[in-house]
Order: sequence, then C-alpha cells, then structure tokens
Amino acid sequence: MRKNIVAGNWKMNKTLQEGIALAKELNEVLANEKPNCDVVICTPFIHLASVTPLVDPAKIGVGAENCADKESGAFTGEVSAAMVASTGAKYVILGHSERRAYYHETIETLAVKVRLALDNGLTPIFCVGEVLEDREAGKQNEVVHEQLAGSLFDLTAEDFSKIVIAYEPVWAIGTGKTATAAQAQEMHAFIRRAIADKYGKEVADNTSILYGGSCKASNAKELFANPDVDGGLIGGASLKAADFKGIIDAFN
Ligand code: PEP
Repeated sequence: MRKNIVAGNWKMNKTLQEGIALAKELNEVLANEKPNCDVVICTPFIHLASVTPLVDPAKIGVGAENCADKESGAFTGEVSAAMVASTGAKYVILGHSERRAYYHETIETLAVKVRLALDNGLTPIFCVGEVLEDREAGKQNEVVHEQLAGSLFDLTAEDFSKIVIAYEPVWAIGTGKTATAAQAQEMHAFIRRAIADKYGKEVADNTSILYGGSCKASNAKELFANPDVDGGLIGGASLKAADFKGIIDAFN
C-alpha cells in the first residue's frame, strides 16, 4: 500500500542554529503521538548531519533538497548523493522547479541525479509541474508526462517503486495560489495513469504522489481527501513547527 507523506522543504532558510531549533521543536511536538502519515523534513545540506541525530527516526525522516549529478571528484561546491546518505539522511528532493528554472537542471541531468540517489540508498522525492503559461495553453499533461518519462521511465519497475512523486504546479509555489482540489486530483490521476501505462497498475497504486504549492493547514484536508493525493510537499508552511503540524494533522 502506498504511504501518506507530509514532507517539508526548507529551501534556503534557517541558519544552522535556527534549523536545529526547528527540528527539535517538531520532534517535541510529535513526541507524544503517532502521526497518521510519514513525516519528512528536507533541509539545506549543512543542516543534515546536525538534524538527523536530533529527531526520532521512527517519526521524522530527514532529506536533502538536491544532490550532485556526479559521483565524486573535482566539482567545487557540489554535494554528492553519497555525502547526503553519510549524514543519515534518507530522502532527497530532485527536480524542484526552482532548481529547473534557476539552475537550469534538465530532464537528462535529473535522470543522472535520480540514478545516483537510488544507488546511494536515498529515496528521491521527484518534483514535476507546469508553469502558468503551459496550463493556460492546456499543455500541463504533456509537460508533466515529459518530465516523468524523460527522467524516470528508463528505470526498472523495482527502482521506480522506490520513488515518491511530488506534483507542484509552478504557478502555485510560494504564490499563495493553490491548485483547487479538483485540479490536483485531475493531475494526480493523470500521473498515476502514466505510471500504470509504463509499469502496471500495481506499481502505480503503490506510488505516493504528493501535492505541493501553497499548501497549508487550512487547505490540506481538502487537498489530501482526494483519492490520488497522498500528502504534500510543503515549502513556506514547513518553517514553523505549529504550521507544519497543522498540515500533518490533516491526516487525522
Ligand atoms: C515547494 O517549494 O516545494 C513548495 C510547495 O512551496 P510553498 O509551499 O511555499 O508553495
């Protein structure tokens, strides 16, 4: 059975001390209860080694927000998948629209990153999503299919089964403009059908597909109630423990 997941993406926020304080607070908030979903926090690289030992691994998984497309060597400033895994982190966000747009990550580069993440035992949270122009032109399915097929569909079914997908319409990220529950369900069902066409119904039914884009406590319940929405990838609302907990509670 697929899992429900609420994953935070801290982006380039929080100093090390602030990140440690937030991770501790979230750990305390979840200490006396069993969330009805998997909880993940994806942090800047420099936080990983400090944050992983601070949280209860049975309740909170830790992940990076990116990794290099090279194994190791003379790539100044890069951080490899093996380095991420060596901190105890279990997840890595790949293909976030900010990485695609500002750092020119291509479908091909992302296929390499996914391979390296899997080879190092990390679970990729692989982001797909269309820009507003694509949606207005009715091209959202085409764009999302190309992102999925181009970076993931050369994987074996066994490897694909280790991936979490996040549908994040770019026009909804950090804008306060959320996709309607119906828009989210429509795209999530499309993604699941595309996975079923490639890998079969069983793999598709077992794939967690998260929604991301201005998700908050006030709209999470409605979004997560959709049959094909298995949780959320949360940016802004993951930066305060109480806000993030409000989204986790949408599964109660
Ligand atoms: C994100 O960046 O993954 C995201 C969903 O951001 P926000 O929740 O702030 O829209």
